[in-house]
Amino acid sequence: MSFNRPVPELPRARVSRRGAQRIEDGHVWVYRSDVISADGLPSGCLVAVTDERERLLGTAFYSSASQIAIRLLSRELINDLEGLLRTRIQEAVAYRERVVRDTDAYRLVFSEADFLPGLIVDRYNGLLSMQVLTQAMDAESARTVILSELSSLQPAAIIERVDPKIRELEQLPARSSGLVQGEKTSTIFSMNGVKFHFDALEGQKTGAFLDQRENYAAAAQYAHGEALDAFCYQGGFALHLAERCSKVTGADSSRPALEIADQNAALNGREIEWIEGNAFDLLHDYSHARKQYDTIVLDPPAFAKSKKNLHTALRGYKELNLRALKMLRPGGVLVSCSCSYHVSQADFLAVIAEAGRDVHRDLRLLELRSQAKDHPILINVPETAYLKCAILLVIR
Ligand code: SAH
Repeated sequence: MSFNRPVPELPRARVSRRGAQRIEDGHVWVYRSDVISADGLPSGCLVAVTDERERLLGTAFYSSASQIAIRLLSRELINDLEGLLRTRIQEAVAYRERVVRDTDAYRLVFSEADFLPGLIVDRYNGLLSMQVLTQAMDAESARTVILSELSSLQPAAIIERVDPKIRELEQLPARSSGLVQGEKTSTIFSMNGVKFHFDALEGQKTGAFLDQRENYAAAAQYAHGEALDAFCYQGGFALHLAERCSKVTGADSSRPALEIADQNAALNGREIEWIEGNAFDLLHDYSHARKQYDTIVLDPPAFAKSKKNLHTALRGYKELNLRALKMLRPGGVLVSCSCSYHVSQADFLAVIAEAGRDVHRDLRLLELRSQAKDHPILINVPETAYLKCAILLVIR
């Protein structure tokens, strides 16, 4: 950290005591309400962030639209943004080389968690899928550097996935998803020895739920007998369970997702039963019909999109877990996930514990997991830790 050093060239953003404290506490965001002076700052510019007394706190991207006005890039003064972006992308790539195993699909760059706020890049075998989320990363100069760094990895193609809602929130001009480089938009990737189809211009997020990769392998370790994967999407868990289980059923409300799931099953030579429907209704009906399973996976979409609906979200998790626990045979395994950041690990466990008590099951916590390591967690930026995956054994 530099103190009282003159801050040349860069425009400045002064932040309140609370904003400065946040940065000093290791966080990387300052909300608009904590920015004191940012008048006339161009959208998406690089700013020197100072406290009320003009003490330098670091260099950041400024957004003129987002409530998160400041996203810190460095605690030092940066003049060479291009050099910094290049180094950060190289560091992100090197980190994956250290921690990623048994897959050719993983997140290569994860925004704040890689000190590249607003940039997400996923790798699917030879394809790179990128997403730009902030004004600064959308600037032509930043895009040029990003593309040049990604090109040096020699992908077969680079595809940009656009989230129109985010562009609107950031007041960025509309743009469509598509190829940025190369011609290929689909491929087959594999993780933990299981193969998947990938089409860069279809599907949710940037394609698969890569953050569950390590949890797939962990779940497969304990899975046995008859299995149900509720909220199965394109079959991530179901296909992994199929290696261990005598029968696997995958359920999802999205027909297009199930069509790909079925193609994925064929690709791996597996027989899986796919059911299109609302998982809440399905679990309700099945548990009333006294159906039984040995393994159940629950991986619903984020119920709590904001703090406001936390209570409703917890009720949703409770119901799902309760029904699943009711149907598990003694010795059965529950893999229960939550990807809502607003639901803490403690809240989530409490809900499962309560569900267990309500249906009189004794539960042993086998593993309490999080997201795969290619989705890094910054210990001082709690928002980077969002996925929870509890694996439980039903003792009796
Ligand atoms: N387990 C999957 C990811 C699940 S994402 C994987 O690892 O790939 C959540 C899924 O829930 C999405 O596929 C979505 O289509 C589905 N979904 C959302 N609401 C649903 C509902 N009420 N019933 C069943 N599926 C639902």
